[in-house]
Amino acid sequence: MKYDLLIESVKIVCGDSLVSGDIGVKDGRIAMIGLLSPDTSADLKIDGRGLIALPGLIDSHVHFRDPGLTHKEDFESGSMSAAAGGVTSVFDMPNTVPTVTDVARLKDKIHAVSTKSYVDFGLYGGASEANLGEINALSKAGVIGFKTYMVGPSAQNSPEYEGIVSVNGVGLLKTMEATSKTGLVHAVHAEDGELVSFFSEMLKAMGRLDPAAHYDSRLNMVEALAVERAIAFAERTGVRLHLVHVSTKEALECVRSAKTRGVRVTCETCPQYLLLTNKDLERFGAYAKFNPPPRGEQDVSSLVAGLKDGGVDILVTDHAPHTRDEKEAGRTSIWDAPSGTPGVETRLPIVLTMAQAWGLNYTDIARLCSRSVAKIFGLGSRKGSLLVGFDADIVLIDPYAEYTLKASELHTKAWETFLFDGMKVRGRVMYTVLRGSVIYQHGVGFTSKPAGSFIPGPMFMGL
Ligand SMILES: [Zn+2]
Repeated sequence: MKYDLLIESVKIVCGDSLVSGDIGVKDGRIAMIGLLSPDTSADLKIDGRGLIALPGLIDSHVHFRDPGLTHKEDFESGSMSAAAGGVTSVFDMPNTVPTVTDVARLKDKIHAVSTKSYVDFGLYGGASEANLGEINALSKAGVIGFKTYMVGPSAQNSPEYEGIVSVNGVGLLKTMEATSKTGLVHAVHAEDGELVSFFSEMLKAMGRLDPAAHYDSRLNMVEALAVERAIAFAERTGVRLHLVHVSTKEALECVRSAKTRGVRVTCETCPQYLLLTNKDLERFGAYAKFNPPPRGEQDVSSLVAGLKDGGVDILVTDHAPHTRDEKEAGRTSIWDAPSGTPGVETRLPIVLTMAQAWGLNYTDIARLCSRSVAKIFGLGSRKGSLLVGFDADIVLIDPYAEYTLKASELHTKAWETFLFDGMKVRGRVMYTVLRGSVIYQHGVGFTSKPAGSFIPGPMFMGL
């Protein structure tokens, strides 16, 4: 057999083990993992000596801002950033302009972004009481899951939040009743919107404009109470609840106890909750303003423990870019800056660098950043693992390369707002392979035109 691509003599993260051998790729899929004779022919051979092959990373939590907010990011810049970070699939959130709340908007978004994406992409549908009648049709049109915000935007008249916020408990319960019937994952941003409004108004009335006021408006209980409510509703409706960016010890304990009771709940955290604490809000100001805010040391330790023991299911990024000017507006008043920070490109070098401190090995990294993401979203027989028959989505890393993360080298439009500029890291993405084609190579750059495809969700019936 002649392969399209052959990666020779590489260490391969294969399920829960690390094996040495070759990877043969044919027609976009992994055709062989094992030892081949050196004269096996292939259109392209990559010498994998010294490298490690991981399943291409999946980022189930990105905001590529396309359509409508493309001054912050677009699908081209966002997906380039993904590819350079070893990410081969992204799931984009529905808070674009317009929001993705019905099938026509979903189709328009697919149309708008599909020629621009360097990586495969799934799209969330927004869900709230405002579009209950659209939920079923959205699932059949191929959304990867649903997303609801339990807290509204801080700025008035934010069109990117239209129809996807449910501060009201009954509204969220009705929404989950609708999404539970689809069988898809329902991702929830769990912060109590009423409490956030109450604390924010109180702090503003006191004249607080400093960065720490952001933290004080969203204390641990703001997240924990919302998580408890979302879990109670999941228990009642049977929905497959996924809690995005869990940041507190209290919230994680709720998730752990729900899992013990058999509730269908999963959760994620992100590098910014593991590397930063609320003290960094003082240091970085609005650049470290994201929701929920960075927490305390105890929260960090609890999340780190969860990565290893499964309490935290996946490690993704909540890549949420804004321009420098937008962030600078927070210099006089923290309330005036938007929330969010970019990260899709740097998850892998950060987790490789922190692996020892966080107690993770390569198979844990593959599980947290790829395999479990695919499984949660119903793609576990096609993506997220290096196994014969799976999509040949592969990232080759040099585990010993030491270098410094530089904001100016990132591909996101929001590179100037990057929080980890200057961080010394160990572990570099050398090649990113999407369905058998090298799309990015270190030192060379992007080696093809955008060739990412829409990933229909598991309930897709055709557009
Ligand atoms: Zn987000």
